[in-house]
Amino acid sequence: MSEKTPFEIARETLKQITLRKLPPTPVNYQAIYHAVAGLPQVELFPEEPLRRIAQALPARNPGQEKQLGLLDYAIGQRNWQGVQNALLGYAGFAVPGGVPHPAAPEPLTAYAPDITPDVLEQVARLIEFAQPAFGGEDTRFHERMQQTLEALRDPGTSVARVRSLLADFNHRLSFAAEEQSEIRLALFKLLQLIIKNIGELSPDDAWLQGQINALQAAAQPPLTLRRLDEVEHQLKDVIFKQTEAKGRAIEAQESLRQMLAAFITRLSQVTAASGDYQEKMEDSLRDLEQAKTLEDIGPVLRGLIRATRDMRLETVNVGEELQSMRAQVQAKEVELRKLQAELERLSAQVRHDGLTGALNRQGLDEAFMRELSAVRRKDAPLSVAMLDIDNFKRLNDARGHETGDVALQHLVTVAKENLRPQDSLARYGGEEFVILLPDTELERGMEVMTRLQRELSKRFFLARPRQGVKPESGGESAVVGTEQDKVFITFSAGVAQLTIDETAEQAVHRADQAMYLAKRAGKNRVVAA
Ligand code: GH3
Ligand code: MG
Ligand code: MG
Repeated sequence: MSEKTPFEIARETLKQITLRKLPPTPVNYQAIYHAVAGLPQVELFPEEPLRRIAQALPARNPGQEKQLGLLDYAIGQRNWQGVQNALLGYAGFAVPGGVPHPAAPEPLTAYAPDITPDVLEQVARLIEFAQPAFGGEDTRFHERMQQTLEALRDPGTSVARVRSLLADFNHRLSFAAEEQSEIRLALFKLLQLIIKNIGELSPDDAWLQGQINALQAAAQPPLTLRRLDEVEHQLKDVIFKQTEAKGRAIEAQESLRQMLAAFITRLSQVTAASGDYQEKMEDSLRDLEQAKTLEDIGPVLRGLIRATRDMRLETVNVGEELQSMRAQVQAKEVELRKLQAELERLSAQVRHDGLTGALNRQGLDEAFMRELSAVRRKDAPLSVAMLDIDNFKRLNDARGHETGDVALQHLVTVAKENLRPQDSLARYGGEEFVILLPDTELERGMEVMTRLQRELSKRFFLARPRQGVKPESGGESAVVGTEQDKVFITFSAGVAQLTIDETAEQAVHRADQAMYLAKRAGKNRVVAA
């Protein structure tokens, strides 16, 4: 075969394109040109379409997963042989010649040396830590998460595999995060609605409105777990007080109603009695008209006198009863008015907690203000303790809410006996108390709390187990053979000393954090903030 000149080759190429009726594209021109010139074919490499195909292929088992990794790598290398082998392997056919793939995909860490296994582990942990935030309903999402975690922790995973898993995971994550934020918003609206509705149940109760306003103020975003806990306790307080006050009001109304019913009955008796009398009078008058002799008049008169006497007696009886009933009604009215006044006094949020007599939140705020100004004036230390009764729910469950209430009162009694007059004790929430210790450094504050703890371990109160429930033995000692058991309570506490640049809230927060640490460390202990 004689050598063709480039001109001849070009001419022949155009001729062939025309004869074969091929579209005159650069690809066709190049292929024919190479054939005419007797040159090896240089094929263009369709990387993008191949990648799309590779991404569309599912990995149903570890074998396929591996082959997809190989495929991705071969595409990156523009290696047709590699593509072919990977596809054969993916479909389950043997690779011709059985030769292993010449270019095994390099693991991610080899491909990008900056991405050390440590970095990958951090990414894995990031994903793991985010896991609880998304609930457990979406199983597909969790499967993907697990796959991604495994791939990140497998030192042989290829770049392509990590990339595709992370892309997929990110996609799902964005939806899951959006959904969670919507759920939170919806729950928040629900909470506000509930609070509002509770308020509307008794719009006339000024005291309840006071509580509802406080609750609404507490239930403002951002909601932290701590805050939710607080809202829950306040809500319980409101519901409890509302039920109790309603119960008393209903009782008073009921006795008024009963008295009214009795009044009406008596009234009808009086009417009936006077009706009777009337009849007797008419009868007597008739008899009187018909009487001819004095003997005839005698019985008529006697009957008349008897009827009149009966009537008078009846009237006196009824009159007396009505008199005493009126007095009772008036007393009840006074009682109701007092009840109303008492509830209204509650609304003004007195400074003391009704159940335990300790300061309430309002009282604590005021005590804090007093102490803070003393701290600034005298440059004296101030320690703040936060304490929370251990396993209080269990006590309530085993012995009833009333016993829980007695336990709260017991704690306050013992605490007051052990604190100095200048210390302030406030009920912060359900079974949480804050103690302000003026002129007290941290170490001394810790001592005070530990001493209180010791004292409490020696003092008990008596209570019956709830019917049909066996009281738990933990933290309590039961005296066999008596109707009432000795009940001991313990608490966990955190103590913080106010720093110069700190607000009261911040100090309480620190004490609270330390209290949580005490809980986590096993309860019945005091931890310094
Ligand atoms: P921990 O040891 O971790 O503190 O557990 P706990 O059971 O003490 O704490 P939790 O917060 O689970 O339960 C507190 C309980 O206190 C729940 C609530 O019903 C109860 N509680 C709140 N206020 C009162 C109240 O005024 N009287 C009574 N009897 N119980 C209350
Ligand atoms: Mg608590
Ligand atoms: Mg508790």
